[in-house]
Amino acid sequence: MIFPFPSKDRHVSTLHLHAVGLKKTYRKGRSLEVPVLHGVDFSVSQGEMVAIVGASGSGKSTLLHLLGLLDSPDSGHIYLRGERIDHLPDRKRDHLRNEAFGFVFQSYHLMPELTALENVLMPHLIRLSPWGWFSRKKELKKEAAAWLDRVGLGHRAKHKPSELSGGEMQRAAIARALAGNPQMILADEPTGNLDAETGASVMRLLRDLNRERGLTMMVVTHDLNVARQADRIVRLNHGLVETYVPGLAA
Ligand code: ADP
Ligand code: MG
Repeated sequence: MIFPFPSKDRHVSTLHLHAVGLKKTYRKGRSLEVPVLHGVDFSVSQGEMVAIVGASGSGKSTLLHLLGLLDSPDSGHIYLRGERIDHLPDRKRDHLRNEAFGFVFQSYHLMPELTALENVLMPHLIRLSPWGWFSRKKELKKEAAAWLDRVGLGHRAKHKPSELSGGEMQRAAIARALAGNPQMILADEPTGNLDAETGASVMRLLRDLNRERGLTMMVVTHDLNVARQADRIVRLNHGLVETYVPGLAA
């Protein structure tokens, strides 16, 4: 069940993304079936930060992938600002995924041969034609450098991922997600490869960005300390969800 009070300290009322009755079973061959989601209802409001928690293997990544159009549900519907998006043809789906969502992953997924600055420019390189890129290169490089500054990595712009620490790589990945100017950030275990202190500072960065820009965020984590920073926590359990608000419930 989704409770009608999404934020503990702010009034957030506009639905940004919601899903109804999501089901997903992975199939391998004819006989092996792994049922994961059994009819999940989920919603996130504009500007809200939601944490998705649950045991390892409970389907957190699966849910995030469905919501971010990286995979399709077997049944159920997904709506972005009230418009259904789960049934779009591939090209529209790819376009919407690139435009609307910024992804942050546990293992950063940076391109090893590119510098931090070049990695942050990737969303533009994917979207723009060669001419579009050429004509906007200067402006976009300046903007990417500003994003690196914002995540505290201005001094590492020319470094390659192998020359960065885990926390620095995740900051670069966050800057890259932001450079695409997304409506929403989807983060899958963003602190999973980091020590507690570094992880906490990456979470604070996500929280600050959520607050200062009103950026909607979904953060998957198995760490309750990380989850407590969110406005609301959704727990996946046996393929279904339960919701509670930190501070309002045990
Ligand atoms: P979580 O992120 O909560 O750890 P996942 O969503 O990654 O869980 O996985 C849920 C279940 O689905 C697990 O049992 C996992 O082994 C299985 N699973 C995930 N992806 C696939 C896949 N591509 N093919 C088959 N099984 C999968
Ligand atoms: Mg996972």
